[in-house]
This record gives sequence, C-alpha cells and structure tokens, in this order.
Amino acid sequence: MAGWIRGGAIVLGGLVALVLAAWLAVLNVPSLQDALMDRAVRAQLDLNRADLFSDDALRVLICGSSSPMPDRTRAKSCTAIIAGGKFYLVDTGPEMWENIMTWRVPAERIGGVFLSHFHSDHIGELGEVNMNSWALGRPGPLKVFGGPGVERVVAGFTEAYALDSSYRTAHHGAELLDPAKGRMEAMPVRFEGPPVVTRNRTIRAFEEDGLTVTAIEVSHSPIEPAYAWRFDYKGRSVVVSGDTAYHPPLAATAKDADVLVHEAQSNEMVMRIRNAAIENGNARLAKILSDITTYHLPHDSHRGGAYRQ
Ligand SMILES: [Zn+2]
Ligand SMILES: [Zn+2]
Repeated sequence: MAGWIRGGAIVLGGLVALVLAAWLAVLNVPSLQDALMDRAVRAQLDLNRADLFSDDALRVLICGSSSPMPDRTRAKSCTAIIAGGKFYLVDTGPEMWENIMTWRVPAERIGGVFLSHFHSDHIGELGEVNMNSWALGRPGPLKVFGGPGVERVVAGFTEAYALDSSYRTAHHGAELLDPAKGRMEAMPVRFEGPPVVTRNRTIRAFEEDGLTVTAIEVSHSPIEPAYAWRFDYKGRSVVVSGDTAYHPPLAATAKDADVLVHEAQSNEMVMRIRNAAIENGNARLAKILSDITTYHLPHDSHRGGAYRQ
C-alpha cells in the first residue's frame, strides 16, 4: 500500500514539474509576454470611475482620514465631493492624490479645492493636485478657496512647482500643456472682523451648475482662519468640518444636512501617549500632545464632556 502511495506521489510530482516547466517555457516567448503586457495595460486603462459622475447625486469620497501621525494605510485630510459632473476637494493632505488616482477618479474633472485651514496635513498635496490634474487634461486654472492667507499658500506652491511646469510645457508642447490652464487661482473668502465663536457666520463662496458651497467659520484657535464647508446640490447637502473644537454654531448649520463629515480626537488616547512620552523622557512630544487637546473635538463629546466648555 505504502508503495502505491509513494509511486503516486512521484508521478504527481513529475506531472507538476512538467506543467511548471512548460508554463515557464511559454512565458519566455517574447510575443506572448508582449500580449500579456498589452492586455494588462488595456485593462488598467479601461478602469475609470466615470460612473460616479453619471447622475444627479451628491457623493462623498473620503480620500484621506489620518491624523498628522504617520500612517501607512491612510492619507492625511481629504474629502472629495462629487456633484454636477465634477469633483471638489476639501483639503489636500499628503498622499491623498494617490487615492484619487488609484480609485480611478477622472482627474480632469476637478472643479475646485476648498481648504479648511493651512495646517500642513491639510494642504501638503496641493502642488501634486494642481500639476497632475493639469497634465491629465483639466480644461482651465484650478480655483483654490480658503480664508485670507490662501493667496500665500497658492503663491508658494506655484513657485515651488514653477520649474517643473516649465519643463513639462517645453517637453510636451504648449498645446498639450498650456501654462494658462496649469495655473492656480487663489479665491480668498473673508469674514469681517475677528472670529466670532459664539454665533453662526457663513459666506456663500461658490455657485455653479446648481451647486452652492458655503464657508462656515469654526473654532480651531489659535489657528485662524478655519472654515467648515457646506455643499448643497439639488436638495442634497454635505458639511465637512475641517479641524474644529466643539463649536455649537456648526451644529446649527449642519443640523439638516444629509451627511456631516466631522473630525474627532480621543483626548484620552492622546493623554496616554503623552504620559508614556514623559516616562520615556520625550518632553518635546509630551508638550505637543498636551497642546493638541484644546483645538479638536473630543470623540466622547456626545457623552457631555465637550458640551460643558
Ligand atoms: Zn488636522
Ligand atoms: Zn489643524
């Protein structure tokens, strides 16, 4: 009996080796390799999420949700709103463009960027967003909305990418990469006077093809300005908070929205990390962690913690 089994195993092993050798021989045929490559490339190029734009819906894609801490699996702050055949970005945190591209969102359909505030984890990818969407066929300049200061942010990224833009136009020709279409336009949205944290202040910032976007002042003190953005389209609405501490006026503005995308922070976890940092002799990290507990929304605020502020 054992002999039968051994014999069977040898025959089976021989067969597997034969099939493997044949397969490797076939893979080594250059024309077959080319055909496999062409097929894979065509399949990739066919992938396109144009369906996200095909009807009158208002859609939300979370293109980044990480804190400023390193995270291999998530990009930093980014929310994409799809409406009226275009998509709009609230914040452009580092690595978010990788998501937009790998999810096959048609880059040239970008309609504008709305920055909540100018912390680096909310703006770091702006240069890539502008350069890539231009290269992929954006039909005109990219409008970048934000509080006062957005002009400096846009001017800085523009300067940092100026040589790159000139290389691309020189290499591919001005017809394909027209510098006039590759520009960013800063669109400052300004509230009069100092920030008011106790009442609701909003400004209609953008209106196009049935979509309206409203800036809502929030409370991320000492960082000013800081805005949430509300999108209204064909009876649907989304509010994106940006970074904010507990801010009752935002709750009022977002009350009847279909979707509220809101930041949250577990101060309990932050303080645990802080305490460990102190034990580890890392006073610098401990100080930073203590400071950040004041300007985000405690995740347990629904239990009453934040509402006593
Ligand atoms: Zn943030
Ligand atoms: Zn922030």
